[in-house]
Amino acid sequence: MGSRTRFAPSPTGFMHIGNLRTAIFEYLVAKHDGGEFILRIEDTDQNRKVEGAIDFIYNTLKLCNMDIDEGPKNKGEYGPYIQSERLDLYKKYAEELVEKGVAYYCFCTEETLSLMREIADKKHKPFMYDGRCSHLSKEEIAEKLAKGEKYVIRQKMPKEGVSVVHDVVYGDVRVENSVLEDQILLKSDGYPTYNFANVIDDHLMHITHVIRGNEYLSQTPKYNLLYEAFGWEAPTYIHVPMVLGSDGNKLSKRNGDASFMDLYEEGYLPEAIVNYLVLLGWSPSENKEVFTMEELIKDFDIKRISKSPATYDIKKLQWFNHKYINTLPDEKYLEFVRPFLTYDVHDKSEEWVNTLLLTYKDHISYGKEINEVVDIFFNDEFTISKENQEFLESDENIPLVIKTYKEELASLPDWNVEAIGEVIDKVKEKTGVKGKLLYMPIRIKISGIEHGPELPQEIYLIGREKVIERLS
Ligand code: GLU
Repeated sequence: MGSRTRFAPSPTGFMHIGNLRTAIFEYLVAKHDGGEFILRIEDTDQNRKVEGAIDFIYNTLKLCNMDIDEGPKNKGEYGPYIQSERLDLYKKYAEELVEKGVAYYCFCTEETLSLMREIADKKHKPFMYDGRCSHLSKEEIAEKLAKGEKYVIRQKMPKEGVSVVHDVVYGDVRVENSVLEDQILLKSDGYPTYNFANVIDDHLMHITHVIRGNEYLSQTPKYNLLYEAFGWEAPTYIHVPMVLGSDGNKLSKRNGDASFMDLYEEGYLPEAIVNYLVLLGWSPSENKEVFTMEELIKDFDIKRISKSPATYDIKKLQWFNHKYINTLPDEKYLEFVRPFLTYDVHDKSEEWVNTLLLTYKDHISYGKEINEVVDIFFNDEFTISKENQEFLESDENIPLVIKTYKEELASLPDWNVEAIGEVIDKVKEKTGVKGKLLYMPIRIKISGIEHGPELPQEIYLIGREKVIERLS
């Protein structure tokens, strides 16, 4: 049997890049040995739930080229794959633990708990539930249940000894049992906590490898106690390092956090995003950076996941995206970039628009950036700087060069890039001028600036009428 991994997002309607990175790792671990990638929706916190979030997650994973084998919208033997549809299961297993004596009903009210918290606060101690309800007698419990008192089910932690959990990335994690709180497994509204549901679901869904953020690492000994209580085999744990912002703090809106959709809408290609994210916390064995999904599936090795946090660097992502944009076939590139162009081009020919976009294929790092580089073709106002003006007057050949361009371009039968390229050669031949003196004067005259895209494209895009006028 191949590995079975699961991506277990909450349906919040966002996909932070840290989450997506985890999903990629999960996908690769499963696919590396021909296993299954499962989508499980963790909606036990109903307040965070957002309409349409499941479609959104499917859409994101599809864009990233990660096929889901089992999930809410796929067939699968171990569903339902949405936690809120599994409440009966959690209740059944929680009650089984009560029967086994490793969990208990707790009837403490919110008021009692607040009071306990206050006392802990006064003593400057972290609050930890004191386990008082674990001492209730069978009769007391039966009576309270009969009266319909609200209850939660808590896990009874051993008070002595040490729990050890093995993690592929972090090694053995040891925790004194005395610091483990009798955590809530089932809430009074019948919903499980993450701490309980993750164990039940991972077991029932036959998950072999649990990959998740390392914020769960310190909690994992508690989960193992649950596996032990049920007599189940725990999965292989792979906790992955955090993704930090450029300032070394946890990624947040302030230091550059982005969601997948933010990036996608800015014109980052999903392939480039995936390629970049996989290298946050994982390093390939060979010195190589650009990977297709197939290559990642083949090369991904969990032993090369790092313990140290990774830093999200938009510049590096742009480097990848530029590379991916640049290697798209022209037709695909045009399809990709065209929707990002916001300038009004309704009166331009298709050839003109395509030439414009292709001229900058090598210049942009993300789709929206196209608008920043093409502005010279939509802005008629420009001034020639003092230095450039001085340059135009610095050589006696320049007026002749400009005059020749003007005449040749004015009489050109077809206005296209190729023909304009020939004009440049002709001007060179006729005037005997070459290099900087051949290109810079015309660039300055027609656009105000001494550099720009390929000269034939620049002349073509500005258009015959304007070019002639500006050369006059
Ligand atoms: N719902 C949890 C989260 O989004 C999943 C953690 C896990 O993968 O177990 O953080």
